[in-house]
Amino acid sequence: MSLGTKILNNKDILEAVNKRRNFAIISHPDAGKTTLTEKLLLYGGAIQQAGAVKARGNQRKATSDWMELEKQRGISITSTVLQFEYERSVINLLDTPGHQDFSEDTYRTLAAADNAVMLEDAAKGLEPQTRKLFEVCKMRKIPIFTFINKMDRPGREPFSLLDEIESELGLNTLPINWPIGSGEEFRGVIDRFSREVILFDKAVRGKQSNEKRLSLEDKEVSKYVERDLLENSLEELEVLDEAGSKFEKEKVFNGSLTPVFFGSAMTNFGVRPFLDSFLKMAQKPTSRNSNKGDIEPASDEFSGFVFKLQANMDPKHRDRVAFVRVCSGKFEKDMSVKHSRTGKTIRLSRPQKIFGQDREVVDDAYPGDVIGLNNPGMFSIGDTLYTGTHLEYEGIPSFSPEIFSWLRNPNPSAFKNFRKGVNELREEGAVQILYDFDESKRDPILAAVGQLQLEVVTHRLKSEYGVDANLEAMPYQLARWISDGWPAIEKLGRIFNCKIVKDCWNRPVILFKNEWNLNQFVEDNNQLNLNKVAPVVS
Ligand code: GDP
Repeated sequence: MSLGTKILNNKDILEAVNKRRNFAIISHPDAGKTTLTEKLLLYGGAIQQAGAVKARGNQRKATSDWMELEKQRGISITSTVLQFEYERSVINLLDTPGHQDFSEDTYRTLAAADNAVMLEDAAKGLEPQTRKLFEVCKMRKIPIFTFINKMDRPGREPFSLLDEIESELGLNTLPINWPIGSGEEFRGVIDRFSREVILFDKAVRGKQSNEKRLSLEDKEVSKYVERDLLENSLEELEVLDEAGSKFEKEKVFNGSLTPVFFGSAMTNFGVRPFLDSFLKMAQKPTSRNSNKGDIEPASDEFSGFVFKLQANMDPKHRDRVAFVRVCSGKFEKDMSVKHSRTGKTIRLSRPQKIFGQDREVVDDAYPGDVIGLNNPGMFSIGDTLYTGTHLEYEGIPSFSPEIFSWLRNPNPSAFKNFRKGVNELREEGAVQILYDFDESKRDPILAAVGQLQLEVVTHRLKSEYGVDANLEAMPYQLARWISDGWPAIEKLGRIFNCKIVKDCWNRPVILFKNEWNLNQFVEDNNQLNLNKVAPVVS
């Protein structure tokens, strides 16, 4: 390659990076994630009509057993990426599965996101799943944008919602707009920076909304907004102006200050203003830490890492797709890359972009994008792919399991297939596997962050490995890896309300029934070093 083309390529990559923004939505079920996603896509022109995301799902034929499970449960297990263009930006929405029973995939998706949108229901405020996902964002220090949804319904006082975020998440808040009334009396929001009133008007379903904006000084405002509502809102704004945070990009970028927006996804109110501000404030695809230090996105060499594996999307081919987040350089179809864990060179001949359930072959991809690679078992979560000299990105952490269940094999003659299936699903990252300390008990223990992971395992054992398996719930809720090893465990006296198990690397783990039991144990054994998550195997 001549120097000339190198420079040209780099410019092309730099331009692509500058245009890209990638984010994931973190929320609790029912807060309105699907609704907001549909409305965002509507502005992007990626689909013509809002509602199509769900319609797609309903019309979808069950092309695999995997999807059959999704259909039976009426949920979406598959998390994918939605890419759309808006105002000359390319936006990648990393879609996390939207169900109560979330899984480790939900967490892992956040490892590939540069920004997060925290979606709250104005009547409920912070909810458990949002808190958990927030922890991952905090760990990664990614910018968090808060969208307070359902303002068309009676909700909590805006100040109390902000206080909750500040005191419980330790996150400073910066409202970008401020509501005028709520529920029946919701009249719109005041844009704090332009000093305009954005009037609430229910958009025609499926249409882009063009909210009417009036200057605060405009007399026409009184035609739409009652005086006492406006005054109340202005008074609150004054309090905010005096005591609240100021916009500081650095703080948004390091995840310590969250811009806050009020709106109503269902009526398509406040979605466009949110998107406009988000694009101005969000972080571009950033550099990522590796064994060689931070790797800049606009580099000549391609690199990326696997953050999610999806099996059996098409049962005829028993295919597996590895989702790769592009971190640097330009990805091109048919390119050869190195696989850092095995040192092998692989030609990536059938890369795909996956939009919901549809796939199309991609010719190129840039930092911040996600591509799907057919994976005949060679990729694991966290694997790095690269061109140039050896590179390895920081691994994706595992997460502390909260649900434990024996996996019983009712048919001993199928033992081999059972074991093969369990091992392969573990390697793929579908679930964590533990074993009883007592070696005579050979049934594996499934350890997961969501109930759904357990069901997926039994379903796939049956459909892909032809073996039956029964779940038998265990009464534990917490796991701690004991880094002091087995000698320390042997010194422990009798311990109650907990169970000693081991992971597949024969490392000791203790399961506890509840937080109280765990605290008691820590008090009695304060010489021990306990880890919430499985230490990385080197
Ligand atoms: P998800 O579980 O977070 O994906 O939530 P959905 O998008 O499916 O929304 C859950 C319910 O809340 C649905 O009945 C939506 O119609 C409703 N919803 C979503 N956004 C709004 C909103 O802004 N206002 C009102 N009133 N309802 C909403």
